[in-house]
Amino acid sequence: MQLTWVVGLLALCAVTLGCPAIVLRSQWGGRPPRSRAQLKTPAPYLIIHHTAGNRCTTPASCRRQVMAVQTLHMVTWGWSDIGYNFLIGEDGRVYGGRGWTTIGAHAKNWNDKSLGISFLGTFTETAPNAAALNAARRLIQCAASRGFLSYNYTLKGHRDVSPTDCPGDALYKVITQWPRFKDAAAACVALSALACGCPTIVTRAQWQARSPTGRTSLSTPVPYVIIHHTAGSSCTSQASCSQVVRGIQNYHMDSQGWSDISYNFLIGEDGRVYEGRGWTTRGAHATNWNSKSLGISFLGTFTNRVPNAAALNAATSLIQCAVSRGALSNSYTLKGHCNVGQTSCPGDALYKVITQWPNFKA
Ligand SMILES: [Zn+2]
Ligand SMILES: [Zn+2]
Repeated sequence: MQLTWVVGLLALCAVTLGCPAIVLRSQWGGRPPRSRAQLKTPAPYLIIHHTAGNRCTTPASCRRQVMAVQTLHMVTWGWSDIGYNFLIGEDGRVYGGRGWTTIGAHAKNWNDKSLGISFLGTFTETAPNAAALNAARRLIQCAASRGFLSYNYTLKGHRDVSPTDCPGDALYKVITQWPRFKDAAAACVALSALACGCPTIVTRAQWQARSPTGRTSLSTPVPYVIIHHTAGSSCTSQASCSQVVRGIQNYHMDSQGWSDISYNFLIGEDGRVYEGRGWTTRGAHATNWNSKSLGISFLGTFTNRVPNAAALNAATSLIQCAVSRGALSNSYTLKGHCNVGQTSCPGDALYKVITQWPNFKA
């Protein structure tokens, strides 16, 4: 099966996991804060703003804008520091404000549970340029992978939590299409079924799958999603994960005599989703449950440790994506394999994690 829908807007999701360089306070000419309060991390929310001032496209002009914002916040408004945790310029740079671990002053009642990221400029009529949007997306990925932002964070616009137009109509429209936007399913329906925060999926062709010897179609949307681990090797690159997935397929087809790899999808600690039987073919992962569920399996053994943030993020966004594409009921129930069969799968450590996920029911 070809997943040709993984194109276009979804290419935005194919962000590398590196962290962008951050222009430090000393580099943009900022003054020190008068005081600071520690932010408890990982923060569960991320709030997007615009500064509603001038746009800037060069390092020199962006530095001036950041300094102007700090002066406004500290001198005119009397705050202890610039309000935001980070600022983004259309020069494609990230400017450090209060940073990862200091409570911001950007959204009343939400500061102690969020990171505030503000785009330099006014984005009512037009959205920020690609350089700025990419910088913000990389910063968000970085925040989650470094543990400053919860892997199942919720993204909101300032207007979602306060009576304000911030971050401007044009920018707001953009962020409603980003992964983990507060009401992603609704936004998907309103915008495009393809723009639903779906992660990049490594297709069967890409991991060099064998053809299945048979297939039974799955009637969708299914009411259940069942989480597994493969109880085998873990992997952290597309090459090594592809090799592990091929090994599992061989085992399922040659030793178990099944028609194909048993799972619908597999998740690597490279942060990628690997297509197994896919969205519309019945799996062979949980006896009596295959005709009414999607089976998602983490590559590795998660008895004593949890999958890394990249893998957990990939799985939660795949589940969200499944709902938005209509493959999984929006009132779905999430279970571990051990809830429906005599097994310790998906491993004690991973099981503990998924009991905290939305819609879990033992
Ligand atoms: Zn704002
Ligand atoms: Zn299992």
